[in-house]
Amino acid sequence: MKIYKIASGALFEKLMSSLTNSLKRSRKNVNEEMVEALANDVTNEIDSMGIPYSIENFMAPGMAKTNMLVLGNVLFHSNAPTVLFSIFHELAHFYQYRKYGDDFALSIYTNEMDQIEQDVDKLLEIENTANKFGLMKSQFYLRKYGLTDVGGIDPQFAEGYANRAFVIQHVRQMKTMVEGMEPDQRTIDQINENIYNLFRG
Ligand SMILES: [Zn+2]
Repeated sequence: MKIYKIASGALFEKLMSSLTNSLKRSRKNVNEEMVEALANDVTNEIDSMGIPYSIENFMAPGMAKTNMLVLGNVLFHSNAPTVLFSIFHELAHFYQYRKYGDDFALSIYTNEMDQIEQDVDKLLEIENTANKFGLMKSQFYLRKYGLTDVGGIDPQFAEGYANRAFVIQHVRQMKTMVEGMEPDQRTIDQINENIYNLFRG
């Protein structure tokens, strides 16, 4: 796995081909300069936050580890709205880390199982906030470049947290995993690392 520090490198190239393919599927003509400007805007957003990232085989569109943005190759086969939405969803989590501290979501995983309903509420609030940010930012850029007619966000990517029963199941699994860790290992970095390993292709 290669970790990149500047999104205007490898991610820029990946965005260019992904956005071009997506627009070709929905339109006859693709304005290359426009695609380049859009890819530039997105990578500048990431670079301005100074977030290192990696692009890899991953069974999710992305993940915001405390110190690294992971983007799954699978994401770049999606349409432009989904790609933009997912990247900004993950960026929202970095704003959350910076605003509330790296441990802002830790208790969701470390609280006792009998607090699971509150923990699920908290996770849903975090994810809904990230979804709102992802939606706002992706719509802003699609409008900026006149791309409001290129399809919608893939529900598979946008509604992962819409089903409460699914989220309860997910949090229960994560709590069980954390219970199996040595107490001094139950840090957000280590928990994120374990979640990350579960999703690696
Ligand atoms: Zn999220």
